[in-house]
Amino acid sequence: MAIRGTMLIGAEDVAGTQGEARAVNPATGAELEPVFGGGTVANVDRACALAAGDFDAFRNAPLETRAKLLEAIADGLMELGDELIERAMAESGLPRPRLEGERGRTCGQLRMFAGIVRAGRWLRLTVDTPLPDRKPLPRADLRSRHIPVGPVAVFGASNFPLAFSVAGGDTAAALAAGCPVIAKAHPSHLGTSELAGRVIQQAVAAVGLPAGVFSLLVGVGNELGGALVKHPAVQAVAFTGSRRGGQALTALAAARPQPIPVFAEMSSINPVFLLPGALEARADAIATGLVASATLGVGQFCTKPGLIFGVAGPEFEAFAGKAGVAIAAAGSATMLNAGIQEAFAHGVGSLCAASGVTKLGAGSEAAHATAAQPALFHTTAAEFSANPKLSEEVFGPVALLIACKDAGEMVALAEQFEGQLTATLHLEESDQALAAKLLPVLERKAGRILVNGFPTGVEVSFAMVHGGPSPATSDSRVTSVGAMAIDRFLRPVCYQDVPAALLPVELRDDELASHVRLVDGALLTA
Ligand code: NAP
Repeated sequence: MAIRGTMLIGAEDVAGTQGEARAVNPATGAELEPVFGGGTVANVDRACALAAGDFDAFRNAPLETRAKLLEAIADGLMELGDELIERAMAESGLPRPRLEGERGRTCGQLRMFAGIVRAGRWLRLTVDTPLPDRKPLPRADLRSRHIPVGPVAVFGASNFPLAFSVAGGDTAAALAAGCPVIAKAHPSHLGTSELAGRVIQQAVAAVGLPAGVFSLLVGVGNELGGALVKHPAVQAVAFTGSRRGGQALTALAAARPQPIPVFAEMSSINPVFLLPGALEARADAIATGLVASATLGVGQFCTKPGLIFGVAGPEFEAFAGKAGVAIAAAGSATMLNAGIQEAFAHGVGSLCAASGVTKLGAGSEAAHATAAQPALFHTTAAEFSANPKLSEEVFGPVALLIACKDAGEMVALAEQFEGQLTATLHLEESDQALAAKLLPVLERKAGRILVNGFPTGVEVSFAMVHGGPSPATSDSRVTSVGAMAIDRFLRPVCYQDVPAALLPVELRDDELASHVRLVDGALLTA
């Protein structure tokens, strides 16, 4: 499939005229062909008008067609074969096995959402039967269902060029909900974005849906993304990236005449608590596992464990020694782009310069300008409390160990955290009393709590929550990974005393029985 450097606006290829951009191979610094033209506000208008115009046709098409669309996208991504993997490797510096795994995850989540569409539970069909004789007032016939919110703008992430990008989880969830998608290509992986976008464009046509269901835009600078969020046709935004970017888009959306929700996944430092019994029982294994998790994918995961707490003493010092040995064995690797490497170098520089922070160890030196040298740092709880900068995310293979004077100080520090995607406890049975004190605090702070595991590796499943209070995300009530991610793009509508002939088909008495539904508060299965 040729990469043409164009945008995909509905069924058309459109060459952008506002500035030029090229993807860069972060491993070599080489600019990649072709040149991409940046989109204009008129291109945003056109994509949004198509999406709005085709919204009703898309949402009212049979659910089977919607499910087939998701499956056709997964099939198309697989059919691209090495072409997709090699382009993503060149644009991201990520190795082949990682990207092949990511492609599997991307297709897996598309297929999972196809199943969710077919099962139809997301419709949340609910009926309150009429009570005409109720005193003092009768009750009307009340029926509700969930409908899609409308066109969704998707901003892909730099660190998952497949699974969190153009054909990634946000797009899969929005299409599953029945929302047309206008995706903005991430400037780091323009070619990968175009390939995935073409697959979606072709899948839309192949299943007979209207072209406005999907568009892909390219922006040179922030202007295009801002225009997209401000466009009146757009009804929700999904974003994964920096705190600054997520907050900027959230502010733009809130300032619209009609404010809309922005589901931004932004910044998390993922604290890990090593409780005394666990450190006594298996300090070596925890040290090896944590260093592997913190350096996985060059530390470029939103779930990277960045802060590791323990109670000061010989066990924590022994653990720190083991972790220092493990980090020394970690290799340097290419980061996603020059900007991310600069931010990483700045973050590591701040840790080196911070009062009371010492370097425990470092991996091999960076082999080139866009590579990262893994590192571990150590400080005390007192220093950590006194310096809020130490709680900021440093995106890349680095973590900070914090020695607390006792368990009470550990709980007090947990209270200070900002919102997190994850919080992890390592514990043995003897630690349960302390864990029971930490858990209620961590529930208030994080979207996912792990015991005796490592936070990287997010299962795409029904119970998964990849979310959390701000600044982890802009809306703690939802998740951006897993089946519940569809809820971001749905809203309830209630139909009061609407005659059967005018009701949505699935809410009519003769159809209801074939769906899972809530009738007068009781859950009934099909
Ligand atoms: P980013 O700079 O926030 O960019 C993400 C997307 O949003 C890009 O398409 C970008 O395009 C757009 N954008 C950003 N700010 C915008 C604004 N003010 N107005 C309109 N559009 C805007 O994130 P990134 O490039 O993926 O990575 C940069 C940093 O984000 C990393 O160093 C890391 O700290 C963090 N990050 C976090 C996660 C996470 O999962 N939490 C993942 C990846 C990165 P344009 O620049 O073309 O407008």
